[in-house]
This record gives sequence, structure tokens and C-alpha cells, in this order.
Amino acid sequence: MILDEKFVNTIKLIALKNAIEFDNNIKPDVVISRAFSFSKFIIGDNHDLKSYIPEIKAIVSELQKLSVDDKKELYADILSRKNDYLRENEKYRNGKRHQAPEGKIKQKTEIDAAISKPKEQLLEFGLPILDGAVEGNVITRFPPEPNGYPHIGHAKAAVIDEEYAKKYNGKLILRYDDTNPLKEKLEYYDAIKEGIDWLGVKPQIIKNTSDDIEKLYDYAKKLIRKNFAYVCDCSPETIKKNRINSIVCDCTLNSIDKNLRSFELMVNGNYSKGASAILRYRGNMSSLNTAMRDPTLFRIIKGGNHPKVGSKYTLWPTYDFAAPIEDSLDGVTHALRTKEYELRNDLYYSILDNLDLPKPKLIEFSRLEFEGIPVSKRKITPLIEQGIIKRWDDPRLPTLMGLRRRGILPEAIRKFVLSLSITLSETKPSIEILESFNRKLLDPISPRLFFVKDPVRVFIKYLDAESVEIKNHPTLDMGKRRVHFENIIYISNDDAIRIKIGDTLRLMDLCNIEILRIEQSGDDDKVGNPDNKIIYALNKGNEVNHKIPKIQWVSEKDQIQYKILRPLPLYSGDKYNENNLVIDTGVAESFISKLQTGAPFQFVRYGFCRIDDQTTAIFTHR
Ligand code: ATP
Ligand code: MG
Repeated sequence: MILDEKFVNTIKLIALKNAIEFDNNIKPDVVISRAFSFSKFIIGDNHDLKSYIPEIKAIVSELQKLSVDDKKELYADILSRKNDYLRENEKYRNGKRHQAPEGKIKQKTEIDAAISKPKEQLLEFGLPILDGAVEGNVITRFPPEPNGYPHIGHAKAAVIDEEYAKKYNGKLILRYDDTNPLKEKLEYYDAIKEGIDWLGVKPQIIKNTSDDIEKLYDYAKKLIRKNFAYVCDCSPETIKKNRINSIVCDCTLNSIDKNLRSFELMVNGNYSKGASAILRYRGNMSSLNTAMRDPTLFRIIKGGNHPKVGSKYTLWPTYDFAAPIEDSLDGVTHALRTKEYELRNDLYYSILDNLDLPKPKLIEFSRLEFEGIPVSKRKITPLIEQGIIKRWDDPRLPTLMGLRRRGILPEAIRKFVLSLSITLSETKPSIEILESFNRKLLDPISPRLFFVKDPVRVFIKYLDAESVEIKNHPTLDMGKRRVHFENIIYISNDDAIRIKIGDTLRLMDLCNIEILRIEQSGDDDKVGNPDNKIIYALNKGNEVNHKIPKIQWVSEKDQIQYKILRPLPLYSGDKYNENNLVIDTGVAESFISKLQTGAPFQFVRYGFCRIDDQTTAIFTHR
């Protein structure tokens, strides 16, 4: 039986994802059951699925033979081809719509047929259908708190929010959830906007929760009037203890009028009975869901200077109160948030029910995390504040600025986060999947250059030419560069230590050489290699010989001292990795100075890098 190509690709994706998540081990049963559950969206109903089992098993056993790296590579490859295909389909479909004359029956082409169920196909490409979505009416929002720099976790939320808004011809709102004047800074609003712009996420509306504080006070009063909220001035310790033990405090007995008066005083900053007084929701102190045990709706925050509203307010709403009301007032139809809020869903809906406000649909997805790299402001900000990391754009950080400086392209981040979709799976995706997406994008735009780490001098006898022209890319037309030399070139110590007298090597794009002598240099003019070695070699012409090692080189006459910063994971388990930034030093061909800061390129046999300044690059990935 021949399986449909799209179905085969889906089976492969499921299998490879399974391998990536489970220690390189594909579980055929898992793949079969997931493939079956996807099958109706790809090949339709009416199939004898059981008869496909041998084929699926065969695919799995073929894939299982690949190395982990090859699996990751293939996964990224199939996924990006699928996404491209979908995009092509959409372009085609949109184009057709415009061209088709009114009233004329559109001929069913193969592509039309393939996209005739676009909403369902979303499943196949990652994002599931939005429950209850109406074309043209979907509103999503991305609500960051401006208390730090945006990171790749925010990118996941923002891109998915935007993607859904786009899919349904709806709107995306960027809402700064700025309700803690002690933590928020103008610098962070700007950084978030810059990050979003860089990603290419385009919200139709930008607003701040702090614009709506007066409205939020009004809704609080409404809740008090309906006896769904009360002012509590117990100490924070008592409140905590009571919550744990399901004890209702005496404040719950206060009259509605008294609560209204106390709340008014809190709003005006005149409540004298205690700075820790809070407005609490009347939930259920014995609820099994602890989020419902009379949670805080408003708290007093004094001494702050809010970046947008200054010292105008001292009574601030909590996330639990501001989020549902803002979402509802903004007309949000689908509110996506990370899974740790799941317990708070009942509260979210309960507040809106009691205020007779429209309820958005809450949808959870898993938080993005990487092994060894914290994807959370709570963990990143202290690294900066304690001076362990100096800059927010440090390439070791998963901040958008850090990733940009490292050479990760926004398109790769988009593809990567969409590939994660909105599952609730707890597993940490490998950062290598992001790197494979990036590699595919960098490959056709990166010139190939030579860098020699820990250089060792090689004198070459009979190297008669004075220069050589080298193509900047082996297969694409990216121009050429001329490299000048006399009879000395450098090779890397990593290569030099493997060389023996009598060996023949190929110096890429230059010539073959035979090693005549290896000596210890007497002079102090060390160029980098620890042994201060000198190699003497003979030019052996240009005959192609695939059997000899090919190595890169840099001409002594045409070089600059160069260094590459190589970021490694910040943590090893829970421990901060003290050696998380390696600096490789050596020489690069001087042509590199012609590249602009930020330009991507590849150092042959080293990896993709991005120009950081005149003499430094950052290693992106292999
Ligand atoms: P942090 O720990 O970084 O402060 P947060 O959730 O408090 O995380 P917010 O600025 O409040 O950060 O988040 C804005 C949006 O981004 C929320 O919808 C949140 O769920 C989402 N988000 C934040 N971090 C991640 C992550 N690591 N993975 C996926 N989504 C995230
Ligand atoms: Mg937050």
C-alpha cells in the first residue's frame, strides 16, 4: 500500500518529535496512535487504519537508525518544508480569489483541493483550531509585564497570539500589564516593543493596563456592591495561615457600605487602618482550588513612581483581577496563557460572571524552557542586577536581544515556536531545533571565510603566486575575494597537532602541501599557538585528491587578529556554569573587516558566526 506523502511526513514528524523528547528512542505505539488521531485531517475518514500499521512501523524503524543530530535536522527540515508549503498554498489561494472573475465557477485544482479544509489543516501544521473562532471576529492579546527584557518564551506567546489573529483575520492587542510601579520601567516597555518589532509581530492595538485603573476601580466597586468583594486588613501572615487552614476571618462580616467606604479610602490613599489592607474576592475559603480562597484583587503599593502614571495611584489591581477585566473590555475572544495559570481559570471566569461581562475563552499552552538556559525574567533579571551578566543582549541569554546578537534570525524563532505549537507537554525542546531552523536560513546568506584558531606558522617552499581568488560561497553567487600572500600562512594548532612529517594536506582553495619539517621556534614572536611551533612545507600543486585532509588557512600577509565569543549553557543543572563563555582567539582573513556589524557568515570548519565588532564575532552554532 502506498501512503499519502503528507501523511508519511506527518508520521515522520510525530516519530522524530517522539525521539527528540524521549532520549532518541521512538516508541512505535505512540507514533501509531498519534498518527491515527491526525489521520482524518490529512487523508480523511474511511480508511482501514489498521492496515497502515506495518508501513508506520517500517518508517519508524528507518528513522530510528539515524543519529540524534540527524533526527533533529530532519525534523526541522520536514517541518519547515511543510510550513513553506502551507504558506505557498495560502498565497495561491488568496491570489486565485482576486483573479477569479465574479460568478465564474472556479476549477478545482489539486492545490485548491489540498487547502479546501484550511482550518483543519492548521492541526497538521502545528496550531490546532481555535474553539469557537469566527472568521473576522477573533481577538487575541499578548500581555507582557514591563518588568524585564523580552525573551524567547515571550516570542512563543506573541507569535502564537499573532498567528491566530492572522489565521482568522482578527486582531492582536499588545497590552502592557503594568500594575506594579515598583518593578516596571520605561526601558522595559521600549525593550518589549523593540523585541516585538524585531520578530515582525504587528499588533493592531497597543495599550497599557495602567490606562484603565479608574475603570478597574469602578468594577471593584460593582463587585463590592454585589457583596462579592470585601476589604481585609488582617496581617499578611494571618491571611496566609487562614488560607492554608480554610479559616474565614472577621473582615468578611463587614457590611457592604463599610467595604465601599474603606475601598474609597484605599483608592485615595487615606486608609489609616493598615498599609497591608487588601481588597479580596469572596471566593470559597474551603475550595480545593486554593486560587479560589478569597484571593487578592487590589493591594496598596506605596513609594513607587510608575513609568506611565507616576505617583497618581497607590492602590493597584492584581493580575487575577486586571487580566479578566482587561481581556473582556478589550473584546478578547481567545486568551492564551501559560499552563501555570490553569488553577486560576475558575477565578477568571467567576469574576467575569459576577460582573456580567463577556467571557473570553481561556487556552493554555506550556511554558518554553530549555536545558541550562532559564527562560524567565525572574531568573534572568537577577543575573543582570547582580552583575553576573553585564548586558541584556549578552549572547548567552535567551532574551530576544541576546539571540539577535548571537545571530539567530527572527524568522527562525517564528518557525521554531510554531513548531512547538500549543501543546501542554512538559518536555523541554532542544535548542538545537531552533538552531536547525536558523542554519537553514543562514546557509544561503552567509559567506564562507577562514579563521585559524591558535595559529601555527607554515613556511611554504615554491609558493610562487602572490594572491588567489576565492569564492565567497561554494555554490551560490556571492562574489569573490582576493587573498594576498608571501610564503607564510597560518594553520590552526588543532590541525597542526595531527600533522606528521611526510604528510600531504590540502590548503583549501590554495594548493596541496607536503610537510618537510616541524620545528620549535626560538623567537618570542608568538602568534598564538601554545607550542610556538613552525612547520616547513613544500608546494605540491593543485591536483585534486579527495583522500588528503582539507584544512583552512590564513595568509600572514592578509590577516587580522580575531576573536570569537562562544556562548555555552548558563547553568549546568541548578549550578551556574562559570565557564559559560569560551573565547577562541586567532587570526582571520582581513576580508572580514569589510563585513558590517551584525552580518552573518560562516568560518569554514568552525561554524556560523555574526560580526560583533571590528575584531570580534559571536559563534551562532555549527
Ligand atoms: P517571567 O517569569 O518571564 O516573568 P511571566 O509570565 O511573568 O514570565 P509576562 O511578561 O507576564 O511574563 O508574560 C507575558 C506573556 O508571555 C504571558 O502570556 C506569558 O504566559 C507568556 N510567557 C512568559 N514566559 C513564557 C515562556 N517561558 N514560555 C511561553 N510563554 C511565556
Ligand atoms: Mg508576569
